[in-house]
Amino acid sequence: MVLILRNIFLLFLFFICFKIGYSQTGLGINTVVIDPGHGGKDPGAVSPNNNYEKTVVLKVSLLLGEMIQKKFPEVKVIYTRNDDRFIGLAKRAKIANEIGADLFISIHANAIEIPSANGFETWVLGLHKSQAALEVAKFENSAILMEENNEQTYSEFDPNDPDAYIALSMRQNAFLDQSLILANAIQKDSKLKLGLRDRGVKQAGFMVLYRATMPAVLVELGFLSNPRDEKFLISKSGQIKLANHLFEGFKNYKNKYDNVDQSLTKFTEIINNNQSISLLDTGKIYKVQLATSSYKIPTLPENFNGLKDVEVYISGKFYKYTYGLSPNMSTINEKLAMAKKAGYESSFVISFQDGKRLDWLKQ
Ligand SMILES: [Zn+2]
Repeated sequence: MVLILRNIFLLFLFFICFKIGYSQTGLGINTVVIDPGHGGKDPGAVSPNNNYEKTVVLKVSLLLGEMIQKKFPEVKVIYTRNDDRFIGLAKRAKIANEIGADLFISIHANAIEIPSANGFETWVLGLHKSQAALEVAKFENSAILMEENNEQTYSEFDPNDPDAYIALSMRQNAFLDQSLILANAIQKDSKLKLGLRDRGVKQAGFMVLYRATMPAVLVELGFLSNPRDEKFLISKSGQIKLANHLFEGFKNYKNKYDNVDQSLTKFTEIINNNQSISLLDTGKIYKVQLATSSYKIPTLPENFNGLKDVEVYISGKFYKYTYGLSPNMSTINEKLAMAKKAGYESSFVISFQDGKRLDWLKQ
């Protein structure tokens, strides 16, 4: 009886803590990072008329940021660059990771040797389905080669090696659902609103998306190598239309999640999950932490590289996904090895005492 009362008390405490955490931080879109591609010594794509990708994307990025700040003053907008300077791909993602951004939007423009290619497309991290998709990622990733110490920073990755792109796409896909929803929101009505060809939502191994630990998309506004697209991209009216279109996509995504976050359904889901309640049991248990996200992702094997029985708990404003549950360190180390084998190379063991996450040093 005492144990039952104690568990009810812990459950109550958990609920109170959650309520406080919830109202303090909120779970909506509080910070967005806008990442204008290239800059400085890296012009990005260059049109036959010598118009630079770095210039077009900076203008559209700044316009987008202004629109977000005007309509949603409570949202913090951070740019990875707001002038013409060179910034490495890893640094761009690091800026977003360190401030705990809720969204990462990287803005680029295309160019290829075939002048007829044209249109607007949105990318998320994943395995490319065509050689053309691989080439887009290779071009964008080639900025790495202009970075000093790139061999140390990207020791695991050669931007020219096709195999490296397969390895990149094995990355945890905890943010894939949200990234796809944002990408689809941005891509929606692009033909109607922009008058550009709708090239759809695609996947490939972009290093800047790989390094970002939140929902992240990369937009290719159009082709500087196509005369019609180029004219649109370099014009003030075209840039305003593009920024406005990106803003609408952002707004739709934000509204969707802000509405969801205003309910307590997520809490109910977690309480209804018996495995999570088991965390409130007495004693020390170990789990493998796989990934973190701002929004709840269904813990289905297909969302976690085939791993079964993935569980979720809330910590601050994030959902954290765990795999395995054991009071035994050697059992959990086997689970850790399985998680790493499934592609969660940065997964690690965490422990709970009486339902409370222990500090790493006390493990
Ligand atoms: Zn680019």
